[in-house]
Amino acid sequence: MSAQDSSIEKVVIVGSGPAGWTAALYASRANLNPLVFPGRAASSDVLPGGQLMLTTDVENYPGFPEGITGPDMMDLFFKQALRFGTRIVADKGIATESEVGLYGQFQNAANLDLSSSPFTITGDNDFECKAHSVIIATGAKANWMGIENELRLAKSGGGVSACAVCDGALPAFRDKPLAVVGGGDSAVEEATYLSKFGSKVYMIHRRDELRASKIMAQRAIDNDKIEILWNKTLIDVLGDDHITAAKLKDTVTGEESTLDLSGLFLAIGHTPATEFLNGQLDLDAKKYIKLADPYRSTTNIDGVFAAGDCVDSVYRQAITASGMGCKAALDAERWLADKGIE
Ligand code: NAP
Repeated sequence: MSAQDSSIEKVVIVGSGPAGWTAALYASRANLNPLVFPGRAASSDVLPGGQLMLTTDVENYPGFPEGITGPDMMDLFFKQALRFGTRIVADKGIATESEVGLYGQFQNAANLDLSSSPFTITGDNDFECKAHSVIIATGAKANWMGIENELRLAKSGGGVSACAVCDGALPAFRDKPLAVVGGGDSAVEEATYLSKFGSKVYMIHRRDELRASKIMAQRAIDNDKIEILWNKTLIDVLGDDHITAAKLKDTVTGEESTLDLSGLFLAIGHTPATEFLNGQLDLDAKKYIKLADPYRSTTNIDGVFAAGDCVDSVYRQAITASGMGCKAALDAERWLADKGIE
């Protein structure tokens, strides 16, 4: 196939969080006519949109002085990307801005063959395309305990969250007892952050020693507002519309107890969505995609770029993911120009 074969996509973007839609926005404005595999949503009347679809109010994304809900923000990102010609892989085929509503659910990229260029991307519902360049922006999922009430209240904005930095400053948590589950650096960081707002912050940790680095652990121990509940695991979350308490179990004695709370924050790690790559891209020990150059979006495969939380185990914010999506689109644009692909 020649480099100018019009059946070959110039850039395919996999993923539809802030990184994916920002990459699509920049790529479409650069006339690259990007094709996005947004992934499959929980139902046909919501967007996929990644972790922000589980976030109630986003108050730290510049440009929204009154705040905005995560789903509303993703809807705006989506519309802005489509306005400039981004196309979407939907169940019934490729959809443009005027067609998306008619094309049913969006497809996941089920398989990527990056072994030879052009790359082959296969959807999860009978769709295959070839692409000169690919941007991976599949994000990461916060880990949850998997308790029914925990997930229900997280989805409904009932005071359960997996991101204290995103949600912790909301009025519902001011001067109220809050808790963080986990004993790693994130748990300490979240508890420290929450201690600025809550009346008291409990750290619920399943062992008698924190996993967090010494300096971070000391920070939690030295903070008067933080109390570490050792050897405790979360077994249930109580409350109808909003959390009122957590049920805990002692991991040593098996004794159960109830802790009154107005907010619960899970900090038990994240899992990057990189398994579908089947080892074709270099990953770090925690399965995040390794960038070939930390200041850019290049990977170990020429023509494959990566952006957002599938790359980033440190910052994990919508704004940082968006910035990385922008970089990936600019890198792809320059890479295509260098190859003479227009
Ligand atoms: P992490 O280091 O993997 O810690 C996860 C914590 O959650 C651990 O304490 C673990 O308990 C607990 N946990 C996991 N599954 C659980 C379950 N099912 N039930 C109860 N507890 C559970 O994850 P992280 O804290 O998100 O950190 C990820 C990486 O980012 C780390 O390398 C960390 O150093 C880095 N980080 C750095 C900073 C910083 O330096 N400022 C801030 C945040 C993150 P166990 O300890 O018993 O396994």
